Amino acid sequence: MAPAWLQRVVTLTVLLVLPVAGRAQTHESRMACPEQLVGLRSTIWTTVDIPVCWEASAPADGQERTWVRSAVQATWEKHSALRFTGWEGCSASSRGIRMGSADINPHTKGMGNQLDGNPEGMMHNFTFEAWSPNCRQRREECIRTIAVHEFGHALGFAHEQNRSDAPDWCQAEAQGTSGDINITPYDLHSVMNYCNPKWAGNGQLSAEDIAGLQAWYGRPQAATARFDGTWQATLTYSDRTCVADAVSLTVRGAQVQGRVQTPAGQVVEIAATLDQEARFEGLQFRLNPRDLVTLRGRLTGGMVHSTDCGCGQYTFTKQ
Ligand SMILES: [Zn+2]
Repeated sequence: MAPAWLQRVVTLTVLLVLPVAGRAQTHESRMACPEQLVGLRSTIWTTVDIPVCWEASAPADGQERTWVRSAVQATWEKHSALRFTGWEGCSASSRGIRMGSADINPHTKGMGNQLDGNPEGMMHNFTFEAWSPNCRQRREECIRTIAVHEFGHALGFAHEQNRSDAPDWCQAEAQGTSGDINITPYDLHSVMNYCNPKWAGNGQLSAEDIAGLQAWYGRPQAATARFDGTWQATLTYSDRTCVADAVSLTVRGAQVQGRVQTPAGQVVEIAATLDQEARFEGLQFRLNPRDLVTLRGRLTGGMVHSTDCGCGQYTFTKQ
């Protein structure tokens, strides 16, 4: 008997799976299937930087991890403001999408942000010995195609065939969690639709997939332009006799300008640049002759060090 909390986890876990590769779509009326990119609103990620990592069950010594990464980068990432970051081994506390591999039906345990930090929240299949053995001779193609479909779920997109206004033959394919908002109009070629005559659209986003993706996650932008705007943080220090300083920054592309206001009312102008990963390059300012303050990390957060007040952490939030 599993403990109560485990039962609850199991009850809440909804697997979103993919049909076996190469299954012919033969229904004569398939052109009438209303195929739409459909999503579950509550699962939309509120960040465009989504960490991904690999669980130990996904072997690191082959090319499979690289295939998954490049397939996702060439589709969901290329056509939106999203950036999938990390791609290294998971730790016990890793957030974001945690990916494993087993010789089973590839799936996600939920949709969108439900996967955040969920161990083996996305499962790939790198071997195809038991499941979909016709992928054995074309593993790269299958692994890439599956990755694109499963990452669609990880972004909150559901199976279109689950829609109540799909034709009966198409609804018969219903599987997993249904969406609750139709983002795009009719489109036969979505990677999220089992009715697609090509298995998971051959891993190629349709025009409507891209339109729906951009409706939720924005259009592609230069990495730094994603952070344009005004940001504010309070710098606190390990030396509790030092009081916090308020910092306000304005970001325009890679250029950062702003001001620090000390509790005593002193104002210091500051300037820096951001690199492609939104890390500060040279954000230092002097509050008095012996107190040099340095921010180390990304715009969104990192460590602060003061020669007078010790170290601490900062988190900038966009206003
Ligand atoms: Zn699916």
